[in-house]
Parts: sequence; structure tokens; C-alpha cells
Amino acid sequence: MQIFESASDLISHLKELRRNASSIGFVPTMGALHQGHLSLFEKSKAENDTTVGSIFVNPLQFNNSSDLSLYPRPIDKDMEMLHKAGCNILFLPSSEEMYPLAPALKMSFGPLEESMEGRYRPGHFAGVGLVVAKFFNIIRPDKAYFGQKDLQQFSIIRQMVQDLSFNIQLRCCPIVREENGLAMSSRNARLSRKKRHLAPALYASLQLAKKYIESDKLEELEAAVKEFFLQYPDLKIDYFEVVDSETLTEVKDVKKHQSIAICVAAYLEEVRLIDNLVFEPTYTS
Ligand code: AMP
Repeated sequence: MQIFESASDLISHLKELRRNASSIGFVPTMGALHQGHLSLFEKSKAENDTTVGSIFVNPLQFNNSSDLSLYPRPIDKDMEMLHKAGCNILFLPSSEEMYPLAPALKMSFGPLEESMEGRYRPGHFAGVGLVVAKFFNIIRPDKAYFGQKDLQQFSIIRQMVQDLSFNIQLRCCPIVREENGLAMSSRNARLSRKKRHLAPALYASLQLAKKYIESDKLEELEAAVKEFFLQYPDLKIDYFEVVDSETLTEVKDVKKHQSIAICVAAYLEEVRLIDNLVFEPTYTS
């Protein structure tokens, strides 16, 4: 695995590779890698000649300074995992390399960022959009791989690719979970042993809500979810929403939507966790 810290060195190297018609897959990450990240690398390896990964904890997308400073950065372990996963090139830029000057451009995504993460993390998607656009310009991948875990992020990047005519195919990969249902996340490492067992309740709440939707009982769902979370006073819910998985608009009549996403965000011990369930409803009544 070759490691680049300089964008211009990486650009020159990839230019050479492209001369041999090598297809390039790209997996952006913030490190503290787990099986969820590795699933994106596996997919990229299967579909491209060369896989480029990046590890960059992007300060621009953090609206909470302690979340940024506490973000885990086990770089040696990450490099070992990527090496084993067969990643060909790792881009490891510093903040100065990515932002030699404070950027003036502020991306905004209209209705796509008015709900959920956009509402609770002001400025987050402007930071995500900018850093992903910079990576796309530096790496110019044929395909780029993202996780459904960050569903709203994927919608925003899809919009950006369309609006800015990036010639890049996007792949949205399924959520990888622990055996107990907890969606893998770099932030899970910050959960204490004592409270960690409570985190899978988020996935359980999504499954409960799915049952209500499939039996066309949307009007009873809110009360049922509230009652469910009464058992888990340690979970502080930011939002629990049922949206169209494409447009992210609120679902009021489930029968009008082909694909539905139930999305949740909650704090457990100062650690913010998100999860979602996307499905095409099959009705039981
Ligand atoms: P992050 O390092 O958290 O920025 O994540 C990098 C990429 O990995 C994003 O596209 C995430 O959606 C994806 N990802 C994170 N967790 C998971 C997971 N449990 N399953 C699948 N993809 C994931």
C-alpha cells in the first residue's frame, strides 16, 4: 500500500495510473476503521483495478469541538487494516494540506439538509460537501463508495455529483452491524462497558417502527416508539423520523412511497449514535 500525504504527489501518481486505463475506486473515511469501512473497501476492490482510501478527520464537518477532539485516531492500526484489506493507495492529508487557506465556498443543499442531521448539526453538510468535492477533484475516481449508515450524507453527495457534473458513479453499501444489531461506528469505541449494551436498542426501535409501518399503523407509531424508549432513559433521542428514502421528505401516507427510511439519532453517554432502516414495505393488512 502506497501512502501519500501530499495532494500534488497523489495527483501525479494517479495521472500515470490512468494512462494505463486503470479504473479507480475511492473510499473516503475518517479512520478508526471497522468492518463497516472494510465492506466498502471490499466492494471497491471487486469493481476497480485500483482502490484509493482516505483517512481525514475533517474539522469543517464537526459542529461540536469536543466531538472533534475526542474522535478516535488509531492511525497505525488503521494502516495495518487497510494493508490487509488490499487497499492500494492511502491518502492521509493534514488539515493544512486540505485547507491551505480557509475556504470561502459554503455549499448548501436546500430541503435535503433541513431535517435530521442537517437540523441537529448546523454546518455539517457544508463541511462534508466541500471535503468530498475536494477529494473527488484530487482523486478523480471512476466510482466512490459510501455507507447507507449515513443515509442523508449519501443523498447530499448524490445531489452534489449531479449539480457539479462529477463524472463519478456512486455506490451506497449496506450497514454492517454487530451481532446484537448495533450499527458499527467509530464512535462506538467511546461507549463505556457499563452502558454499551443499551446501544442496540436503537436498531430494535427501528424494527419496531417497521412493524407499525407495514401494518399501516403510522398514526400509532409515535406513541409506540415513545413508550419503547421509556425503558432506556440513558438514550437521549435527537430525532426519530420516517422519511422517503430518496427525497428524505416526511412520510405521511406510507402507501404513497416505494422505499421508506426510518432514521434515528440519539446520545448515549455524550456519544452521538445514528442508525436507519431502509425498506420497500410489504403490507400485512
Ligand atoms: P466515517 O469514517 O464515519 O466518515 O465513515 C466512512 C464511510 O464508511 C461512510 O461512507 C460511512 O457511511 C461508512 N460506514 C460507517 N459505518 C458503517 C457501517 N456500519 N456499515 C457500512 N458503512 C459504514
